[in-house]
Amino acid sequence: MMQFKIGEHWCEMDFCRGMLGKCRFSLMDSPGVHDRLRVLLERCGSAGGVGDGAGDVLPHKRVKMAFAACPNGCTLPHIKDVGFVAEICPRVLLESCDHCGMCVGVCRERAITMAVGGPEAARDKCVGCGMCMRDCPQQAIEGGAFRFAVLIGGRMGRHPRLADRMCVVGDRNLGRLVEKLLAAIDGHLNGNVRFADWIEQAGLFKVKEQVLYG
Ligand code: SF4
Ligand code: SF4
Ligand code: SF4
Repeated sequence: MMQFKIGEHWCEMDFCRGMLGKCRFSLMDSPGVHDRLRVLLERCGSAGGVGDGAGDVLPHKRVKMAFAACPNGCTLPHIKDVGFVAEICPRVLLESCDHCGMCVGVCRERAITMAVGGPEAARDKCVGCGMCMRDCPQQAIEGGAFRFAVLIGGRMGRHPRLADRMCVVGDRNLGRLVEKLLAAIDGHLNGNVRFADWIEQAGLFKVKEQVLYG
């Protein structure tokens, strides 16, 4: 766990085992992922300093964040104030594909169908787990664009709430997005006001607008 300060707010960020290469589902070996993660951590670390003071702060006063190295989300990014989830966008290399159909069965989301020209992944069903890519016997599926899904507004406690998917961010916009998120945490989330409360009061659209464009 990484602890850091944003203004007066102590934050804690959980990382999953996939970060250490100890999970076969991890997308951490995707091209460019380490650069993007470094940007994410640098922005967090430079906001108010890295330390170990969060333990002195009551749990409900800490800003809780989580990073998951694949959409399985073992660090529970869906119940944290802010969650980052690594995803890939699979791309079939038709010239290498022998139409065996294995990827259709591998995809738990039923996102892949076999079309006349070869397998096609439906964007609205694909969660970006990369399993089709790993299991293709011809290595005919490549990772395509790597991205982070950014979730906000999850919490546990008396009134549990699942986080909303705020946006998906690629490498170029990641640093700026993290800065905006941290600024929102510092500027809006004082006391007991958390993303979850803010979203419930103002609506997701308004919160997104303020965080992304405010
Ligand atoms: S979130 Fe994914 S990569 Fe991380 S430990 Fe869980 S299954 Fe493995
Ligand atoms: S598993 Fe690979 S080779 Fe088989 S149909 Fe899918 S992409 Fe083509
Ligand atoms: S990345 Fe995962 S969800 Fe998307 S098509 Fe491949 S196996 Fe299915």
